[in-house]
Amino acid sequence: MIEPIVINPIGVVHSDFTKNDHVRIDVSQSTIEIFPQYSEALLRISEHSHIWVIGWFHESRRDTLRVVPRINPELGEYGVFGLRAFMRPNPIGLTAVKLVNIEDNILTVDGLDFIEGTPIIDIKPYYEADIIFSPGTPYIKPREPKMLEETLFKAAVNHHQEECEQLVLAVKMCMAAEEIFGHLNAQDLQVHVVGSLCLADVIQGICKARLANPARFSFEHNPDKAMSCWENNSRRAAISLNPGAGLCLLQAQPHQALFDIKVWNKAD
Ligand SMILES: [Zn+2]
Repeated sequence: MIEPIVINPIGVVHSDFTKNDHVRIDVSQSTIEIFPQYSEALLRISEHSHIWVIGWFHESRRDTLRVVPRINPELGEYGVFGLRAFMRPNPIGLTAVKLVNIEDNILTVDGLDFIEGTPIIDIKPYYEADIIFSPGTPYIKPREPKMLEETLFKAAVNHHQEECEQLVLAVKMCMAAEEIFGHLNAQDLQVHVVGSLCLADVIQGICKARLANPARFSFEHNPDKAMSCWENNSRRAAISLNPGAGLCLLQAQPHQALFDIKVWNKAD
């Protein structure tokens, strides 16, 4: 019999994100207050741009072993070890965040999805070796298109590291492709981009499409164009920026208004 483990919180989260905001994915900046007796452990943490934050979901149930994803109940049940649900035998939360600022024992971070008052039990640096560029994952597609766009946007910013106009355009283009093909990380989905370096970089980052093993991504640099061709075992599609599309207020425009889209079924 293994003895129970005692864990002492090392800090606490201060956030606008409260118990009632459970369906929000994206969160703005929040702070982590490290308790004074642990502040010595922050020495040289500022050398890192990103950190793992490990918290304790103190308000969560611990007797639940199966749940349906809250972002899309239609997907059916998963065991909690196959999902990031709050409810689990040991309600530990794990999120990689950007370390924005440190002042004394207060860390300001970007992207932390923990609610106000969450006890923090550990902080670890995020290393490049932590990246697995193209893991196999089930497609937990949010039911709301707006939430899907937010998820793609977050993945795009994490990968590309600047919120340029081409990033917004690439997210919209990927939304259009997702409507046709579903899971953009699918191993049999290939994408060819003709456009700017930023457009190609963001589409590659969202689709996790490598140049080889398997070869899913190819690119032709042409800053005057913005198009992508997609292909899986059953369909092909070409998505190009509609010449008449006004790019002002790009973020607010639905992707349906931006592109010329052609789709072919391979059986035809
Ligand atoms: Zn860019």
